Amino acid sequence: MSELSLAYIFHEQQLLVDENFQLPEVEKLEDDLDFIPGDQIIARDLLDIDAIPEGLHLVPIRQLISLWSRSQFEQASRAVQLLEWRRNHKFCSHCGHETEVHPLEYAMICPTCRYRQYPRVQPCVITIITRGEDEILLAQSVRNKGKMYGLIAGFVEVGETLEDAVRRETLEEVGLHLKNIRYLASQPWPFPSNLMLAFHAEYESGDIKLQEEEISDARFFRFDKLPEIPFKGSIAHSMIMHVLHGTPIIEY
Ligand SMILES: [Zn+2]
Repeated sequence: MSELSLAYIFHEQQLLVDENFQLPEVEKLEDDLDFIPGDQIIARDLLDIDAIPEGLHLVPIRQLISLWSRSQFEQASRAVQLLEWRRNHKFCSHCGHETEVHPLEYAMICPTCRYRQYPRVQPCVITIITRGEDEILLAQSVRNKGKMYGLIAGFVEVGETLEDAVRRETLEEVGLHLKNIRYLASQPWPFPSNLMLAFHAEYESGDIKLQEEEISDARFFRFDKLPEIPFKGSIAHSMIMHVLHGTPIIEY
């Protein structure tokens, strides 16, 4: 009888857990991603959704943010991103040959030309913009059909500094100019493989002008009159609480 491994088994952005939201123990298969070698922890794609063992069920990874510790959630987010990266790099992007999993590091290596493909992280800036002592800018995304107002966020472009990205995204999405841009904190965000980089900036000038393909509404809200904001566990929520109450953005 072989030893059992703790298993992160995913179906898309859902993870298989028991009734207490704990990971199942399984026998290791050849195709499993040896997620933390030596630690008997593996990651696996659930291909046959009908083959879920009794007592286990799929939950969206997002739901685990509020149920799990930060370190356990980050381990799950690393597992899902590594699986996705392996799935998407089966062939060498340089010569087209089938790749192999590198035995020692997270890399897919081409046996013909030796080109290595590493997992990619997409840097994404998210900015809390304040005006005066008691107002923050919140915006509603056109993709969000609910009433929730969030922060200005967007991907960093090639050749840009993080501060450039903060300035450009804000100008594009709401037409405002910023000053005193300061880095706050970061959070890995596995939807699908972003690294969220949090900034605080102050309003400098300009009138709100919406980028209509992206933003359906944006306004400065007084601290004591906020609309519905992003859920607890998201970096946006922590950033808003940080500005309102001085609480740390990420607890280490
Ligand atoms: Zn190659």
